[in-house]
Amino acid sequence: MINSPISKFTFKGRSFLIKRDDLLDDDFSGNKARKFYYYFLYLKNNPHIDTIISYGSNQSNAMYSLSVLAKLFNITLRYYTHHVSSYLKTHPIGNYKHALLNGAVIIEDAQMVKRLKNGDIDVASNELFIKEGGANVQAEYGIKLLADELRDYQDYNIFLPSGTGVTALYLQKHTKAKVYTCSCVGDDEYLKQQWSELEATHHPAIIKKHKKFHFGKLYRENYEMWLELKKAGIEFDLLYDSIGWQVVMNNLDILGDKVIYIHQGGIRGNESMIQRYQQKYKEHS
Ligand SMILES: *Cc1c(COP(=O)(O)O)cnc(C)c1O
Repeated sequence: MINSPISKFTFKGRSFLIKRDDLLDDDFSGNKARKFYYYFLYLKNNPHIDTIISYGSNQSNAMYSLSVLAKLFNITLRYYTHHVSSYLKTHPIGNYKHALLNGAVIIEDAQMVKRLKNGDIDVASNELFIKEGGANVQAEYGIKLLADELRDYQDYNIFLPSGTGVTALYLQKHTKAKVYTCSCVGDDEYLKQQWSELEATHHPAIIKKHKKFHFGKLYRENYEMWLELKKAGIEFDLLYDSIGWQVVMNNLDILGDKVIYIHQGGIRGNESMIQRYQQKYKEHS
């Protein structure tokens, strides 16, 4: 994990540093590569494992990254999801399409998803179970490596948008720099609760959003932010970063002028979002 430069980025007249975890690898990149790095080593050391079991949304970045991991080791990813629309089945796109191309077995079974969420599963000795989004203590291992790569920047403030908040939490645990985040999937309370379950201290600082966004819904300002970032030279994720950058630009007084933004990948997932946005706001296409 070395191909992740820290590069300069000028946006709306301000300069930032970007930690380019999106460039870690063509396929296994972003914060999911960090979060699953432990499992990468685990699979290397446990050749008797032939199946990864996980669950969650049918367009998640985590699902795609697990499909890459399974392919790397020539094993099966069995992935449970609530439902796949017949349209998506006939017109596969984005993470769903690429996970299938990597050989993932995607199973619609709402009952099973519920059971797995509750950890109600007997894992056979040839199977490896990984929680939704990699939200567990195993994530710490790879995120510590990310923190190590940032050790020369302790006088900077770090910003990254959160889903489960696990990346931000372990980053704060292993860096002396201050870590700021915002919630994108659940609300701010959800983030605090997730953190408390994993660690008593080292919680990152949450910057409040100016408005509530429902995860995965389309918002004109999110698409416009994404387009502006792209014009400035970097493609970011449309689900998390288009919110993250609005929070950054609205809170430069808090963040100061030495900011490192962590690019957490997720570009493969943009495909399906771009299609939805272009259908909704045709004038931009
Ligand atoms: C998964 C993901 C996140 C959220 O990471 P958490 O550790 O769950 O907070 C943020 N950005 C991108 C691009 C992701 O794929």
